[in-house]
Amino acid sequence: MFFHVRDLAVRAKQFDVEIAASAIDFQQGAKDKDTNLRQAGPLKVAGKAELVMESLGEIKVSGHITVEMTADCDRCLEPARFPIDSDFSLFYRPVEEGYGDEKEIDTGEAEMGFYEGDGLELNDVISEFVLLTLPMQRVCGESCKGICPACGQNRNLRECGCQREVADDRWAALKSLKT
Ligand SMILES: [Zn+2]
Ligand SMILES: [Zn+2]
Repeated sequence: MFFHVRDLAVRAKQFDVEIAASAIDFQQGAKDKDTNLRQAGPLKVAGKAELVMESLGEIKVSGHITVEMTADCDRCLEPARFPIDSDFSLFYRPVEEGYGDEKEIDTGEAEMGFYEGDGLELNDVISEFVLLTLPMQRVCGESCKGICPACGQNRNLRECGCQREVADDRWAALKSLKT
């Protein structure tokens, strides 16, 4: 769904859509760690696009988004689930020649993005919001034990015993000191 700035000048545009798992390219513009980011099921988004500052062409897109994302756990590399069920509110201004550095714009507390040309695509807004919302550290659970650095075993599935051996060696060394 494309929001044309001229259409928004006439009236705000409501939307209530369901987006299939393959429709949005989350890899586009993503960082290295996002390469395993996937949409696990349909994404539901409802809300409104409106022109909030007509003289500047500033578009506000707000509403509610529900989706479940999966990404590889930072510790054990198994797929981890990240449900998103959240309100959002994003602001966009046109990129114009001579507009200057993005940093010069006082955005206050709000997230400010930019659009090129006649408007912006809903899918791009969603992609940006999802990437902003996901936690920096993506783990399958707080108790994830990760992968053994010595043998590569996923320690959530099976204790490999590597650490125990190290610990046992230390105890043995202590015991030999005491005797
Ligand atoms: Zn994990
Ligand atoms: Zn091990």
